[in-house]
Amino acid sequence: MRFTKITASIGPKCEDKKTLKQMIAAGVNICRLNFSHDTGAVQGKKIDMIRKISDELNTPVAIMIDLQGPKHRIGNFETEDKYPLTIGQKFTFDSDPTPGDGTRVNLPDADVMKSLNVGDRILLNDGKIEMTVDSVTPDKIVAVVVRGDAIWSRRGFNLPDTEIDTSVLTDKDRMDLEYAITKNPDWVAISFVQRPEDVAEVRDFITARTSHPIKIIAKIERPNAVARISDIAAAADGIMIARGDLAVEVPFEQVPAISRHIIRECRKLNRPVIMATQMLGTMVDNEFPTRAEISDVANAAYLRADSTMTSEETTMGINPVNVINTMNKILTYSDNDAIANPYDWSRVENIPENDWSRSVASMAYLNRAAAIVVFARDTNITMQISCRKPDIPIIAVCADTATANQLCILRGVFPVFDTDLFAQRDAFNSAHKFGIRDGKIVIVDDDKISLRTLD
Ligand code: PEP
Repeated sequence: MRFTKITASIGPKCEDKKTLKQMIAAGVNICRLNFSHDTGAVQGKKIDMIRKISDELNTPVAIMIDLQGPKHRIGNFETEDKYPLTIGQKFTFDSDPTPGDGTRVNLPDADVMKSLNVGDRILLNDGKIEMTVDSVTPDKIVAVVVRGDAIWSRRGFNLPDTEIDTSVLTDKDRMDLEYAITKNPDWVAISFVQRPEDVAEVRDFITARTSHPIKIIAKIERPNAVARISDIAAAADGIMIARGDLAVEVPFEQVPAISRHIIRECRKLNRPVIMATQMLGTMVDNEFPTRAEISDVANAAYLRADSTMTSEETTMGINPVNVINTMNKILTYSDNDAIANPYDWSRVENIPENDWSRSVASMAYLNRAAAIVVFARDTNITMQISCRKPDIPIIAVCADTATANQLCILRGVFPVFDTDLFAQRDAFNSAHKFGIRDGKIVIVDDDKISLRTLD
């Protein structure tokens, strides 16, 4: 059994039904639809296709909408050429929409200027250019070049030192979310979260429009979000470690330590974590991963992250199905090796000895149970048990598809949508469905916990 889940980004190279079906059959648990690229009905069609494939394969699959968020970019220059920069020179970003030259360029989101302070760093082109703010007015930033030798049109513009005082939802995000909500996605991921209030804003937006229980993932990619990880995780339903932008905004050598810290904090708060970005990046062009990529995917399993994620390797890669097979192979081996060296689930600060989810994990572990069977009315109980990381399969029997789909993200959770098994509280047949026929099982039905021997 594979415990660590696979989130696959869906894009041009894998959105035909045949490829998508092969990927889901090969082990994709969550399909990520990135609204930075397609929007509206184009994404809607993909959602319908994924739901259809999930029915045809009789496999629950979660659908995650990923909103672009307030990602800042500079405007265009007079030509598409590179404009040289020299260290120590001054460069201006302003609200003038005319094309830039070697000394200035437009910053379309002029709103950010009011949040900047003298001395704040500006990073462009994934951190390859660094400047510091020399002076700032409501319509102009003058900065000094610290690193980088050229600048050109539409480069990304990151402000690692600045708490940006704008809504986490841009006008585009509001339009995208308004549409996406009509398709009942299971999860919505919010980009560039800075504070718990950002999560509350999106939750209010969703609950004002639907009663469908859509869950929220906060993407952690800014230093101020790392600093407030516990508050943000408590406000959200899950976390994505968005290592792409994170490694631009914090010194890259800190990303592994931050990832471990986030996983630890989320475990205390019963929140799943997706480890994202460049996991098998070289497979965009290659059939085999690098040794470093194999280790990166395996480490996510050893750290007991809930899910790994693919990005361009599935959206733009030469063989997206091979990427999923590769990830599945690495995770399955590493999960089983990790299980052979059990995680010390008891060593989590802030989880009291008598916490019921800890008792479930403890009962299953001490009795060498073959599985934990949960009758899941919603996601809450299963999420708590999964976050104790018991290294024992958790079979979640659900009476509705939304719960089964949402639970797909959780490490070690095998959701099954079956109204009969749920109504009859049939734990034995639920275990049989996953090939578990011998040994003991721990059964969780609301607040009733029992231990039975399979026959
Ligand atoms: C990231 O930055 O790692 C990420 C997942 O975000 P996006 O792909 O939306 O930029």
